[in-house]
Amino acid sequence: PSPRILIVGGVAAGMSAASRARRLNPDAHVTVFDRGEYVSYGACGLPYVLGGDVPRFGEEGWDALVARTPGQMRARGVGVRLRHEVTGIDAGAGTLSVLDRDAGRTLTEPYDRLLLATGVSALRPDWAQTELGGVHVLRDIPDAQAIEASLKGARRAAVVGGGYIGIELTEALRSRGLSVVLLEQAPEIAGRALDTAYRRRVREELERGGVDVRCGVSVEGLTGKAGRVTGVQTSDGLVRADLVIVAVGIRPNVELARAAGVRLGKTGAVAVNTRQETNVAGIYAAGDNTEAVHRVTRRRVHVPLGLSANRMGRVAGVNMAGGDATFPGIVGTAIFKCFGLGAARTGLTQAEADALGLKALSVDVESTDHAGYYKGAQPIHVRLTGEVGTGRLLGAQLVGSPGSVKRVDVVAALLGQRADVEALFAADLAYAPPFSGVWDVLLVAADQLR
Ligand code: FAD
Repeated sequence: PSPRILIVGGVAAGMSAASRARRLNPDAHVTVFDRGEYVSYGACGLPYVLGGDVPRFGEEGWDALVARTPGQMRARGVGVRLRHEVTGIDAGAGTLSVLDRDAGRTLTEPYDRLLLATGVSALRPDWAQTELGGVHVLRDIPDAQAIEASLKGARRAAVVGGGYIGIELTEALRSRGLSVVLLEQAPEIAGRALDTAYRRRVREELERGGVDVRCGVSVEGLTGKAGRVTGVQTSDGLVRADLVIVAVGIRPNVELARAAGVRLGKTGAVAVNTRQETNVAGIYAAGDNTEAVHRVTRRRVHVPLGLSANRMGRVAGVNMAGGDATFPGIVGTAIFKCFGLGAARTGLTQAEADALGLKALSVDVESTDHAGYYKGAQPIHVRLTGEVGTGRLLGAQLVGSPGSVKRVDVVAALLGQRADVEALFAADLAYAPPFSGVWDVLLVAADQLR
């Protein structure tokens, strides 16, 4: 059989699914629709392109983030329709309504299997709904191009929101020579990603990088002149800025799903089973618009990140092509860089464990990222969290030099196996002086916690 597989959204989840489905079933007709101009690119690289860490060659330079061009996808047998917005699903008839934005007409496309890989949109609070130039969100390549255009002549930036995207952009704007004020409503930056002491270390690094970080400040409005933003009105007074980045959160793009009778979960994202199937026969969902099961808490969560988007897409692609694959769930692993510091987490923070009513205990270890006598040793701080009574490993947080915090992966892998603290202590980790102490800092933490 030659199933007709249609995919809405062509970035991480959508393109992974398309490639997989075609590879598994070369007879399948696979077509990807995206309302935008770019598909199959790494949005995660956008702050680094803006900051100059990714070399850029004129306008074409944005292609550095493109994994596969539409031409390359077509050569693999995947149809790609750019600037085609899916506006409706008739699940009974098995058809999509697709608006061809260039031709201005709506097409009806039949499907046997449909994947919703529509991602998320950046939130724009009321005060950010403005015609003023110089006010931006960052989700995709056109957003980044608009920020790049606004950088010309800009000297002062305000970044609203101290999550990881706000932090990465703050560093990028500093690299481009702007003075930056980072405004955060909560008492500390980095959201719920890290426990308070670890968030504070990230803030101190931003301050060392010359950023004016103001926490506990809410934004009330924007000021402008001649069509261009001039400042941000805050509960703490006026912050002058000729460039404003709004990075206050995201919401899943679920309008299409909801209208088609696809069930959403409590998180507001699309609910799926482990095969990425929704409640509507023939309709799958994957990526940032979709919930996942947290393997530590067994709850459904919405953690929109790159690896899970790719992996969910791959699973959906296999299943849509007639194979059998399951998504294993996530453990809430995340990592970001801020100037000379990396911060990483996996599993649960102490605060998250407390909020869930778990009896959790954490230890904090301060050490160096490799043997103290070997040149260039940098401080590393590790918090390891376990469950009292069962000895189960619950999570880890690391703040240190950017390369050193990637050891979070050791804990992430063990969490996926529901391992206990003893298992971490027993792990045979790599050692040589340029990389770690003979007892790696994770082993030291596990020893203290067990
Ligand atoms: P998206 O990338 O959002 O793609 C969805 C696509 O669907 C879009 O192109 C959209 O135009 C299209 N679409 C939506 N609705 C329709 C419709 N009705 N019709 C047609 N097309 C439609 N993750 C990490 O793990 N690590 C990082 O360091 C990291 N950094 C990031 C930095 C930035 C600045 C951003 C924005 C994201 C970052 N992420 C990071 C998150 C990561 O980029 C996402 O998890 C990933 O892009 C999700 O892929 P997706 O395919 O689910 O959705």
